[in-house]
Amino acid sequence: MKVIEVKTHDREEFIDITSAVENVVKESGKKDGICFIYVPHTTAGITINENADPSVKRDILMAINKLIPYTWEYQHSEGNSPAHIKSSIIGQSVSLIIENGRLVLGTWQGIFFCEFDGPRTRKVYVKIL
Ligand code: ZN
Repeated sequence: MKVIEVKTHDREEFIDITSAVENVVKESGKKDGICFIYVPHTTAGITINENADPSVKRDILMAINKLIPYTWEYQHSEGNSPAHIKSSIIGQSVSLIIENGRLVLGTWQGIFFCEFDGPRTRKVYVKIL
């Protein structure tokens, strides 16, 4: 298993980690298989979406924040319940196909680490199968 370190700079932020994951695939020497990517955090997530127009990730964040308000009747004493909920909705893992030594992604797709309670230093686990 390889660990990618991600430094986030804002409370909420989508960070494109596609090239870091591609490097792990390249270093593995694996030509065909599965790349499993896992985020071991309760206030962060991972998703695949458009990486061509940066307004897409802004719009996704805006919509998530509309669905899950910062203030509500939350009970969690740490005060970061919205981040926990966003993490659960987005999810902690994605799996990708490796073919001819490369990740199979659509033309406009990228892999995004999703920070919901930053800034922090985060980890992403990558396992090549
Ligand atoms: Zn918490």
